[in-house]
Order: sequence, then C-alpha cells, then structure tokens
Amino acid sequence: MSNTNPSSLPTVVGRLAPSPTGAQHIGNARTYLIAWLSARSRGGQVVLRMEDIDSPRVKPGAAGQTCDDLHWLGLDWDGEPVVQSQRLGYYESALLRLQTQESVYPCTCSRTDVAQAASAPHEEHEGPIYPGTCSGRRAADGAQLERRSFAWRFRVGSDSPCFVDGFRGPTALDLRRVGGDFVVWKSADAPAYQLAVVVDDAAFGITEVVRGDDLLPSTPRQLLLYNALHLRPPQFIHVPLVVGPDGRRLAKRHGNTRLASLRTAGVKPQALLGLLAWSCGWLPRLESISARDLLPLFRLETIPPEPLVLEPALLRSIGYRAENSGP
Ligand SMILES: [Zn+2]
Repeated sequence: MSNTNPSSLPTVVGRLAPSPTGAQHIGNARTYLIAWLSARSRGGQVVLRMEDIDSPRVKPGAAGQTCDDLHWLGLDWDGEPVVQSQRLGYYESALLRLQTQESVYPCTCSRTDVAQAASAPHEEHEGPIYPGTCSGRRAADGAQLERRSFAWRFRVGSDSPCFVDGFRGPTALDLRRVGGDFVVWKSADAPAYQLAVVVDDAAFGITEVVRGDDLLPSTPRQLLLYNALHLRPPQFIHVPLVVGPDGRRLAKRHGNTRLASLRTAGVKPQALLGLLAWSCGWLPRLESISARDLLPLFRLETIPPEPLVLEPALLRSIGYRAENSGP
C-alpha cells in the first residue's frame, strides 16, 4: 500500500482505557493525563474504551462516573466510547483463529491446581507459573470437555518478545518465568484481558499505548497475540505508578484519593493537574494549570523513572485531606 499522506507523518492514535470496576483515583488521573497529552500534543486522536468485561467487579454507573472524572480533568476523546462488553463477537472470532492454528489449548486446571503444581519461584503479582499440565491437549479436545469448565491458554513456547518501550527503552521479560502459558479466555464464557485489549487496540488503529508499569508483564503476552493474529502492534509506553507513603500502589488504605471525592471537596481540577504536571517535570513549582495549557509543556523524558509518592502534604497543597473524606 502506498503512503498517500502528504505530510508522511502517521497519525497518532492514543487511548484511555479505564476499568469501571471502581472510582478513578489520582493514580489513574496521572496515567490518563500522560496518555492524553502524548497523543494530543502531536495533533493525535484519543479513543476512550471502557474495559468492562470483568463483569463481577464492574460497578453499575461507574462508566458514567469515569466519563465525568475525565471531563472534570479536561481530557476529551474522539467519537463514542468503545464498550468491551458489546464486542464479544470480535473476541470470539480471534479465539477461533487461535484455535484453528493450535496457538491455544483448553485448560481445566483450577487456581489451586496451578498453585500446587508450580514449583519455581514466581513474581508475586503475576501468580504462579503455569506448569503446562494441559498443554498436551489440542484445540479440538475442547469439544469433549463441554460439560466441564475450562479456560483457553496461549502456548508461550520459548520466545518472549523483546520490545523498545517508549519510556523505559529496550525491555525484555522471560514469560516462562512470568506466568508461563497465559489465559486468553476464562471459563465463564468470558474473554480475558489480554485478548480483548489486543483485538480492540488493533481494531481501532491505536498507535501508542500509554499505561502504568504494573502492566509491563502484559506486553510480551500481547506481542505474542499480535503476532499470532497477524496484527500490527502499537508503541508501548509504560509509566511509573503513583504509590502511597508506604511505597505500595495507591489504594483505599491510603485514604480517599478518588477524583469524585476531590471534586466534591471543592478541589479545582487545575490544582490537581498542576500537582501532576509538577510531578512529571513539566512545571518548576506547584501552580494551577489546565490540561490544554499543558500541551506545549509535555515531555515524556522529564517524567522521573521512580513512582510518585503521594505524601499527605502534597494533597494538602491542593487543599485536600484524604483522611477526612471517608473510606
Ligand atoms: Zn491446565
């Protein structure tokens, strides 16, 4: 296909992909801000996608609140939000393709089976390494398992794709040491995160994925899926998370840092944006600023490689006390 774009610059298409399983907090806001600025500062597009297929955890009304949170921050998107729960047919087609080429096999192991069979040490948050109990099955064996509950696992094999992360540089993770063969379809007739994300990012022409570095182990898995499905992968950019004073990922135990609660408490979005921009090295001092005024100041390379520690003093500097606002 010839390139008919006169500027010869490909259009940047970024995405915001919240999970409406709970309220969005300051940590989510920082990642969304970086993702939005990265695309918009180069005249790119932004797709909003609701990752709502983890149905038992999805809270009613959370999608609407997420949109309110993003609007409050001054972050916009192009077109209607993409809703994963409305796209199951596309994920089923991708699974069928993986089955046809024997890239996946049915796995009847329970969580307990996997934990007990795994002997090698594993990364805590990635769970035990799948020991390959069911890897001798072929895709067609799934038909004989009809009455049993089973998942579909992707055969990782011996290659773990390396990639050049837009923030971290060359990155390599050995999937045989991080989880092993991974689930692309859960037993409850539900696609798993890895498959849905790849299908959607490819379908909507996403050229860059900016997300928290807790998702780093997902990237080699997703690259294997891109390869198996003959799809073109985006540029991956993993940015540091926001953590509490104890160094752990921002959560309820650190007090209420939900954006809706900041809004109710009368915090101005420009104050929060100023704090986030200062933490990313775009402002020399804490001051109020709008998302739009940050466009010319955005630089990926000034973001510190360490997580942002959200000390109570930082919250007080924008007129908020996390501990006073309930759980
Ligand atoms: Zn198994």
